[in-house]
Formats: sequence, structure tokens, C-alpha cells
Amino acid sequence: MKINFVDLQRQYCDIKEEIDIAIQKIIDSCAFIGNLNNPFVREFEENFAGFIGAEHCVACANGTDAIEILLKAFDIGPGDEVIVPAISWIATSEAVTNVGALPVFVDIESDYYCINPSLIEEKITSKTKAIIPVHLYGHPADMPVISEIAKKHNLILIEDCAQAHGATIGNTTTGTFGDAASFSFFPGKNLGAYGDAGGMVTNNKDIADTIRMISQHGQSGKKHQHLIEGRNSRMDGINAAILNVKLRYLDQWTKKRISISDEYKKLLSEAPVILPKTRESYRHVHHLFVIRTKNRDALMQYLNQEGISCAIQYPTALPYLDAYANRGFKPEDFPVAYSIPNEILSLPVFPELKHVEVEYICEKIISFYNS
Ligand SMILES: *Cc1c(COP(=O)(O)O)cnc(C)c1O
Repeated sequence: MKINFVDLQRQYCDIKEEIDIAIQKIIDSCAFIGNLNNPFVREFEENFAGFIGAEHCVACANGTDAIEILLKAFDIGPGDEVIVPAISWIATSEAVTNVGALPVFVDIESDYYCINPSLIEEKITSKTKAIIPVHLYGHPADMPVISEIAKKHNLILIEDCAQAHGATIGNTTTGTFGDAASFSFFPGKNLGAYGDAGGMVTNNKDIADTIRMISQHGQSGKKHQHLIEGRNSRMDGINAAILNVKLRYLDQWTKKRISISDEYKKLLSEAPVILPKTRESYRHVHHLFVIRTKNRDALMQYLNQEGISCAIQYPTALPYLDAYANRGFKPEDFPVAYSIPNEILSLPVFPELKHVEVEYICEKIISFYNS
């Protein structure tokens, strides 16, 4: 059996008719660019804000820009420090550097892989301006505690929700705990466009106006009236139309991700691997299903031979990437983030993954350990 890590083709086949109509509509109306008056992009923004339960959504070109634009809107720049987790996609820390501020890494929790709140306060200095927790793999970071820390130290709180569309803690959706949140709609994310796309949500009207202005070349509502120098970061009309269709399916797809993950957990309960955990009253949306094992490389090679594609998210923690070599971090600075990348393995998880495929993957994992 051959099983892809993600299979976007299957999803397209399921909703082809609606997607094709939506795309054709954009071509017919030439609404290609997400400028201030593109109705399809505005419609997506309203729908997505409603889905998250935030007052405002502003679409942009990708999830990395979303973080950068938010940092700019909160006036974070040279001389400032921003706290980020030691494990994430580089976009989180890269955005901080790209506005001229310094990313300050904090180690992660070994059970849930998100930033460890008990290690945040020791990293706060007079220069610290913001915290960017990442809801890694779709599991919400410990927002109740992180929010308290942010409040106590008067820090801006920006949630990186790129992997966590629709994740919740109790009745609160991730993206509404902090001052604002960034989302990615990269094709492989839980809600994915057909190309790069991103968005920001906030309940703060002033911030909503500012991020829209920044992403639209500094225009605040009128064409050719540039109040500031902004940048070009818009969502394409075609992607907005696609996302409008897909958003209607997101909750049902998320439920499939969760049920597939439950099935993995059941079938692998006896296998000598560490399975992902979900904190009490949290909704983990399983962007990824990450197991841990000391024999990771051999297991991955074996599964590949059996036709199963796996991935490693991520092979190196952020502080130990070449990009940060100049910071001179040592293994003991972030012991959890330093060691975990050698043990983690992401198994395929996507809504269209079939029951028999999950069974096959689990059978192969068990037979690896039995041989
Ligand atoms: C994907 C991702 C981003 C960046 O999103 P792009 O749309 O690819 O720019 C940021 N943060 C995290 C945690 C991500 O997984």
C-alpha cells in the first residue's frame, strides 16, 4: 500500500464541483487581487472572523507576513525582545528578526510540545515587548497561564495559530486569547488555499485598521492615499474563493483528524512509542500526529520501505539552526527542544485518510517493533 503524508488531491476530488465554480467566478469577474474592495476576500474575512469568534479578520499573503505585520502594528522593532518557543517553524522567529527585534527562545513542555510557561518569566527583561506562543501540531499552548504572565508584565500577546484552526481551550477558540493572532492558509495546513495565503484576527479595532493599512501599501481606505509606507501583502481572489468553500468543511474535517488520531492511539496503545497527549478540556486539532521513539530513524526508513510517507517536524529546534549559530546556544540552554527532534516522527493525518490506511500504518509500526 502507498500512503502519502498529505493527499490534497483526494480533498479536491471530494469538493471539485464547488471549488471549480468558485474559481471560475473569480476569473469571470477578474477579481484577482485582494485589494481594499475585493468582495471575495472581504467575504472570507467575515466568514473566518465568525468561525474564530473574533471581531476582525484581515487577510494577507501568507502566515509569515501575518506575524510580521502584527508585530509592526504593535510597534515592535529594533531594541525590542519577543519571546518565542524553541520549537516551531522558523517563520515565528524569522518574523521577529525581520521587524528588527530579537527573538528570545524559551524551551517547550515535553508532554505537549508548546512553550513551557514556567520558563517564560526568567526570560523577561526591560526590553521584552511581546510573547508569541505557537499552538504546535494543533495542540493549544497553555494560554490561561501565558495570558496571566502577559498581563502581569504588560506584554503584547500574539498567538501563532498557523497549525491550530479551530483548536479550543474550554469554550474559547485559539486566536482570541491574546491581543491578536496570525493564521497560515498554506495548502497543507488544516485550512489550506491553493497557494500561499494568510490572515490575522483581533478584537482591537485600531489594530485591525493598522494591519489592513500596512498590508495595503499604507492606504487606509482610499486608493492613492498613503498614510504610511506599508507593504504588499494581500490574499489572492482565487484563494479567498477557495477558502470560502473549504471553511464550510473545516469543522467536519477537524472531527475526522481527531477521530483518526484517536484510532492511532487505540491501535498503538501497546507499541513502545510515546503517543501525543491532549490536555484536559483542550481541543487538539491534530494538524500533525507526532509520536516519539528512540529508534526513530530506523522506524522511518522501515515505514518508507512499506510505502508509508512520514515527516519530521522539525529536525532541528530553532536555536540550533545555522541561522542562529551567531547566538552561540548550547544544548543545556533548551534541553527538551534540543533532544526531542531526534525522537519525533509525524505519521500521516489528514481528513481523507482511510480507516484501512490507518490500520495498515499501525500494523507496520507494530511489526517493526516485533522484528
Ligand atoms: C506554516 C507556519 C507559519 C508560516 O506560514 P506561511 O503561510 O507558510 O508563511 C508560521 N508559523 C507556524 C507555526 C507554521 O506552521
